[in-house]
Amino acid sequence: MKPPVFTYHRPGSVAEALDLLAQVGSEGKVLAGGQSLVPLLNMRLAAPRHLVDVNWLAELDEVSSGEDGVRVGALARHARVEHDQPANQAVPLLGQAIGDIAHTTVRNRGTVVGSLVHADPAAELPAVLVLLGGSMELASAGDGTRRVAGADFFLGPLESAVGPGELATAALFPRPPAGGGTAWVEVARRHGDYAVCGAGALVVLDQDLQIASARAALISVGPVPVPADLTDALAGQPHDAADWAAAGRLAAAATDPDDDIHATAAYRRHLAGVLTARAARAAAANAAGRFVQGAA
Ligand SMILES: Cc1cc2nc3c(=O)[nH]c(=O)nc-3n(C[C@H](O)[C@H](O)[C@H](O)COP(=O)(O)OP(=O)(O)OC[C@H]3O[C@@H](n4cnc5c(N)ncnc54)[C@H](O)[C@@H]3O)c2cc1C
Repeated sequence: MKPPVFTYHRPGSVAEALDLLAQVGSEGKVLAGGQSLVPLLNMRLAAPRHLVDVNWLAELDEVSSGEDGVRVGALARHARVEHDQPANQAVPLLGQAIGDIAHTTVRNRGTVVGSLVHADPAAELPAVLVLLGGSMELASAGDGTRRVAGADFFLGPLESAVGPGELATAALFPRPPAGGGTAWVEVARRHGDYAVCGAGALVVLDQDLQIASARAALISVGPVPVPADLTDALAGQPHDAADWAAAGRLAAAATDPDDDIHATAAYRRHLAGVLTARAARAAAANAAGRFVQGAA
């Protein structure tokens, strides 16, 4: 199918993009990698009157790593972040999760920030942002820049906190705390498909390699990423012999999936438990390995 008629804008700077977005307001959409927006246009599920193409704004094409974590500019493609060594050293969960997004062709074009703004409940990166306590940077003409915590950014399926006239300029992913390790696991019907369920985990170990705290964030089991605090199930236990199944039960209880054409709600909840248990165990092993390497 063909998209509905729209006016195409190609700003030459972020300032020009913000002016354009202010002018077109709720009738405008930002075009980033187009991997989600273009199918929506072609299926006539979205019909913006104006598209503001940010693909030419080199100032947004940024991946920088520092003490605080990783800052990903709005034009950084999945593939670039997936293979950025400093970024993956600082925040290993980025590479761990991005590898499960679609196929190479999609990752070569789609952007990390576009995926976050798109707010698909089956997407990996929203859960990564929530799990790590990250945030989004939103800019608009006149109002400057505001920061929105990941926990407040996802409002519902395909609905984020980006308002009319706003441009998401960057996503900020904090480093895991000292002693922390992470892991991502998911189940999809075929490699590259959206996950039927996925779980990220962050486990923090103390100096004796016992679990000090643990949490998870799950996808495809609710309208937004579902966070789950696993500390009650795991705290004080050894990193290599904890009650992972109890952690899984805690996470499954936090989910509220629906039946749909891909899976029953009961199957998704079952997966939530199994995958959280696996992710927590792998995250604890990752944390212990980082201790040995002196990275944690
Ligand atoms: C075959 C296929 C399989 C896929 N599988 C997966 C998968 O398994 N997991 C997964 O997570 N994703 C998957 N995707 C989606 C992919 O990750 C997209 O890249 C991503 O969802 C959107 O990024 P984009 O840069 O292409 O954004 P676009 O498609 O350009 O935009 C998406 C939405 O975000 C808005 N937007 C984008 N950037 C900004 C910005 N800077 N400021 C304000 N608004 C903005 C747009 O207006 C639009 O509403 C798949 C896509 C395809 C085509």
